[in-house]
Amino acid sequence: MNTPAQPADVVWEQRWHPLREEWILYTSHRGGRPWIGETHAATALQPPTYDPTCALCPGNPRLHGTNPAYSGVFVFENDLPCFSTALAPEPPPGDPLQSRRPAHGTAEVICYHPDHAKSFPDLTAEECARVATVWAERTASLAARPEVRHVLIFENRGSLVGTSNPHPHGQIYAGNLIYGHTAREVASSRAYRRNHGRNLGTDLLARELAGPRVIAENPSFVAFVPWFARYAYEVYVWPRRPVTALPELSPAELRDLGLMVRAVAATYDRLWNRPMPYVMAIHQAPCDDEDHADYPFHLEFHPPLRTPDTLKYLAGPEIGGGSMTNESNPDQKAAELRAAVPAA
Ligand SMILES: [Zn+2]
Repeated sequence: MNTPAQPADVVWEQRWHPLREEWILYTSHRGGRPWIGETHAATALQPPTYDPTCALCPGNPRLHGTNPAYSGVFVFENDLPCFSTALAPEPPPGDPLQSRRPAHGTAEVICYHPDHAKSFPDLTAEECARVATVWAERTASLAARPEVRHVLIFENRGSLVGTSNPHPHGQIYAGNLIYGHTAREVASSRAYRRNHGRNLGTDLLARELAGPRVIAENPSFVAFVPWFARYAYEVYVWPRRPVTALPELSPAELRDLGLMVRAVAATYDRLWNRPMPYVMAIHQAPCDDEDHADYPFHLEFHPPLRTPDTLKYLAGPEIGGGSMTNESNPDQKAAELRAAVPAA
């Protein structure tokens, strides 16, 4: 049976993801298929500026300790960390089927603001800059620990990505584990240098700047929906100057980074006039003493929604098959987002 003809704006093909070195399947003709399952309308509840039950609000008790009456950015060690500061000995290698090692490191929580009701789009320019500066300071400090090989900074926003507490905050994981996406980007950026003699991040940015998927720019950063997006409304924030990690950014660049994160988060919230859930991750080079000169520092936003009330479910192709399907056209998603960018 022949495939019926598709409109010109349908993307029905596979695209190579140069950072992950894998194929992504695009089926934008399937994005509007009927859905009779669970939907996820936004809750209209506006949180209070202070919540006495919140473990992140100033002055409140936590599992282990009490928060100070902080103003500005507040960082503390996670009460239930995924890494242990107690250094256990490395077991001897040799078992190929049941290798193990200790989970060395630490985990921190970073509160962006004392106000429980605020989120990144509500922060002032100074407050955005301060968050980005603390990200860089914590990275430098944690990377100096001998057991830390990678610092992963991320924000889970909204209950659809597992965060029930609306207090504006993110997390900092620093341990002996190099997280998988970063490990793949270490390999792909090295392979790109080997095969093409060039920096992957520089080439990728040049290509996106020439394309129709840029949604916002400032003097130091560009935000775009990548040509090889895995999720509808996925946005990358890319530095104009190739760097490998947060501590290499100047004060002016950190300020621009904070402003760009705010611009992307505000754009998301304006898109459907609801707080947009997302996972935001800062991709930075490992701190394991290897050469990462070509590692492409950047940020990735992954919103789980593909329509205002429909989740992108990871199912047979993704969990079962291990390859991502994107039911959207990245050019169109970028145009939708660009129309929602707030005035600077
Ligand atoms: Zn709170």
